[in-house]
Parts: sequence; structure tokens; C-alpha cells
Amino acid sequence: MNTEFGISPSLEHHACLVDILGRGGRIKEALEVVKNMSMKPSGSIWGSLLNSCRLHGNVSLAEAIAKRLFELEPNNPGNYVLLSNIYANAGLWEGVKMVRDVMEKRGIKKEAGCSWIQIKKKLHTFVASGGFELRSSNEYKKLWNELMEAMEADGYVSSTGVVLHDVNEEMKAMWVCGHSERVATMFGLIHTGAGIPIRITKNLRVCVDCHSWMKSVSRVTRRVIILRDTNRFHHFDKGMCSCKDYW
Ligand SMILES: [Zn+2]
Ligand SMILES: [Zn+2]
Repeated sequence: MNTEFGISPSLEHHACLVDILGRGGRIKEALEVVKNMSMKPSGSIWGSLLNSCRLHGNVSLAEAIAKRLFELEPNNPGNYVLLSNIYANAGLWEGVKMVRDVMEKRGIKKEAGCSWIQIKKKLHTFVASGGFELRSSNEYKKLWNELMEAMEADGYVSSTGVVLHDVNEEMKAMWVCGHSERVATMFGLIHTGAGIPIRITKNLRVCVDCHSWMKSVSRVTRRVIILRDTNRFHHFDKGMCSCKDYW
């Protein structure tokens, strides 16, 4: 960039390179880029490295990176949740508990998941594990069962590694079913006609399981689902997402 284009790489350029290397599994090289930066790496750069550790299940490096990140952004709940997810995916429940204890000691609360959907000029809000009335209605249960049957036939398998709690698989599956973006999607399917795209906004990042759930729903229902989460737009159509599973 310097010699051919006369552009000196900015913080954003570095962040992109670190992200590319990290996502590609070359986390050590990504770390070298960070160490050799002429400017101070931002929290988002360390955060991208930590996310790469999650993608590639690298627990030991994740711990070292999280330490730096916690110094830089001690009050960002997302970082703690990310590390906790890495421990949970590896089945290291002691680690999950440790992160939970640190959060409690520092008074950091995990932001509750919340999704919004607008139907006929009215905004409907769903919080994680909420929407109880809707979820216990017969039309919801009927649609849910029909969907699950079609989706399982379509090859959908629930991945429950995202659930932080040390509980059995059945409980975990139940837990992710209550994620707000799913309840909002179900609400949209019930209250809009065939062919109408479903648009949802979420205050947190969509989890891995909801992401594959949405892909499958878009295929079996032939509906387009557009989900705006904290990181990006996800445009689900015919079983695929515009983010190509990177977010
Ligand atoms: Zn989810
Ligand atoms: Zn996506």
C-alpha cells in the first residue's frame, strides 16, 4: 500500500487484515500484524481476534487475547460473553463459571436479547425467553411443529453449543428456541401472507444456531427474511444467507 499506492494503512486497514487472517484460521499471523502495528490496536481489533478464536476453537489463545481486551474495554459485556461462548463450545464449564464470576464481581450485566418486527405500522418487541403468550398459542405450536418437521427433513440439525449453561441437550434446544429473533420470525410468519419478506431488527449478534435456523426457515417457507443484527444485515433466501456464514 505504501510503495505502490502511497497510502499508509490506517487502523481500519489493519482491522480488515487481522480479520481476514483470523477467519482463515491464521490467528498467529493475525497476532503478528497486531504486534507490529505502528498505532495502538483498538478494542475492535482484539475483538475480531477473539471472534476468530471462537470460529476455530482456539481456547488458549482466546484466553490471552481476552486478557488484553478486558483491560481495554473492561465494561463491554459482549467480550465476556464471547469468551464464555468459547469455553462453552469446548465444554469447559469451569471457564464459563469463571467468566460469570468475574462479570458478577465487576457488576457487568449481559444485555438481554431483544428483537423487533413491524407489522401493519405497529412495532412488536420480543425479548429472549419472552413472548410467552404467543409461544403457548395453538397456532404458534402448530406452525412450529410443521416447520421443525419440514426443516429436519431438509437436513436442519440444531447446534446447541451456543447455550452457556451446563444442561442436557434437550434443555439446550429448548433454550435457543426462545431466542428473540426466532419468536419475532414466527410472529412474522403467522401475521403476514405468503411471499412477503420478514424484516427483523435485533440488539445483539445473531447466534450460530438461530442463523442456521433462519436459513432453513427461508428455504422451507420460501420466504425472504432480512435480519439486521448489531454487526450487519443478514438476507436469508432459499436456505442461504448474504453474509455467507461470516459475521
Ligand atoms: Zn439464537
Ligand atoms: Zn448471515
